[in-house]
Amino acid sequence: MTIDGHIDYISEIKELKEKKNAIILAHYYQTGDIQDIADFVGDSLALSQKAAANDADIILFAGVRFMAETAKILSPSKKVLLPDMNAGCSLADSCSEKEFKKFIKKNPGRTVITYVNTNTDIKALSDIICTSSNAVQIIESLPPDEKIIFAPDRNLGNYIMNKTGRDMVIWKGACHVHEEFSLEAILQLKEDNPEAKIIVHPECELPVRMVSDFIGSTSALLQFTKGDNSQTYIVATEPGIIHQMKRESPSKKFIPAPPRDSTCGCSECNFMKLISIEKIYRCLRDEKPEIVIDSGVIEKAGKPIRRMMEISEKLGL
Ligand code: SF4
Repeated sequence: MTIDGHIDYISEIKELKEKKNAIILAHYYQTGDIQDIADFVGDSLALSQKAAANDADIILFAGVRFMAETAKILSPSKKVLLPDMNAGCSLADSCSEKEFKKFIKKNPGRTVITYVNTNTDIKALSDIICTSSNAVQIIESLPPDEKIIFAPDRNLGNYIMNKTGRDMVIWKGACHVHEEFSLEAILQLKEDNPEAKIIVHPECELPVRMVSDFIGSTSALLQFTKGDNSQTYIVATEPGIIHQMKRESPSKKFIPAPPRDSTCGCSECNFMKLISIEKIYRCLRDEKPEIVIDSGVIEKAGKPIRRMMEISEKLGL
């Protein structure tokens, strides 16, 4: 269908989805227009759960590569598409297989827990995967004396270690988006909006976490703003989530926390933002780029992901 000679991408996508029995899973950090056409919008944990339990033939992932790879690992018989293969993740790339193997060797006898924001080869070296929604509970579900390696996010790792008091050695990776928030600019915003609550993702640095009113995963932040009685929030995570926050609480005000460099727009994830409606249309039409993973790797990387899913289910997460 065309409008004034232009393709009506939204209608075309809807038609293709139906014809091909496809679903679109979108992460909260996608732009609002993509979130609006998705069959399901969520954070990494919820998206993994959706990827594992659906009867579609094709999963189109509007997110970054490690998420689409996780979907493929959980649903190997399905065709998993990612509209732009350059949609990587600076945090996942901060942990290479070669260096991580050395790190594990240097710290023997520890359970290897890695954040879902890792490449598949790192997942294959792990005992359990976690997301920011379930990391604390997964670690608390282990015997208290169990020693842990946590990778790749140093900020989330420190946050969990402080919360649980567990013996953890932490890989020194970071997300370039969440480490970029300016403490000074956040404090200035708070001064200008004294009634506002500062809500922060645990991937942010300690000084930013210390001035927060609430710390939580992207979906926990969303839930918090729904249930809380404040009217204004300073939001220190990728601002894509504000689309859902406004949807859920239209009368409230959400102010994105500014990055250190006010000219760079780098509080937005440039990888997430590589996905566009047009790319989704082409990807669904051509059924490529497709995520392809060796079956042996799927087997190895699937075990720790399924362990995460089992523990999460047991804990009712
Ligand atoms: S926001 Fe950070 S952790 Fe999330 S995909 Fe982008 S670079 Fe990776």
